[in-house]
Amino acid sequence: MSTEAPGPAGAAHAVVPAVRVGQGIDVHPLVDGRPLVLGGVVVPFERGLAGHSDADVLTHAVCDAVLSAAGLGDLGRHFPASDPRWAGAHSLSFCRQAVALAGEAGWTIGNVAATVVCDRPRLGTYLPAMTAALAAALGVDPGQVQVTAKAAEGLGFTGRGDGIAAIAVCLLAGRGR
Ligand SMILES: [Zn+2]
Repeated sequence: MSTEAPGPAGAAHAVVPAVRVGQGIDVHPLVDGRPLVLGGVVVPFERGLAGHSDADVLTHAVCDAVLSAAGLGDLGRHFPASDPRWAGAHSLSFCRQAVALAGEAGWTIGNVAATVVCDRPRLGTYLPAMTAALAAALGVDPGQVQVTAKAAEGLGFTGRGDGIAAIAVCLLAGRGR
């Protein structure tokens, strides 16, 4: 799984591994009257994330990481919030479509690692279910997906409970085109 990049005349050809890394970051505000959906899993909590779709901040970060690694921009480019088709959408469907777009460009998922940043609710017991749901949407083995949770120690908007943030990285393998 490698391609030979053209090098200067007379120089040994450099072997460039056909892998690409991408990153995604997302934030949504916590509000009353919404379910809290993280990684496709409904987490019991007194508030939920506001947004045009289901506002699944974790899944959005993962989608952006996949699209970023494939050089395909971000979620807003493919699923704009101005489009009524995506109102209330299940974000795992964005994940499936992001993987399909990356696949059309010649890439397959190597692995995904993501972290949710919030103090409340505590997410530890839900992480395996989030991992399984994201892996299914990405079409990969759960061993290729790692979801962790990080407390904000009371600092900033995540620490105050005003919102939740998520960051993700994705490694793609393949030849691209
Ligand atoms: Zn989002």
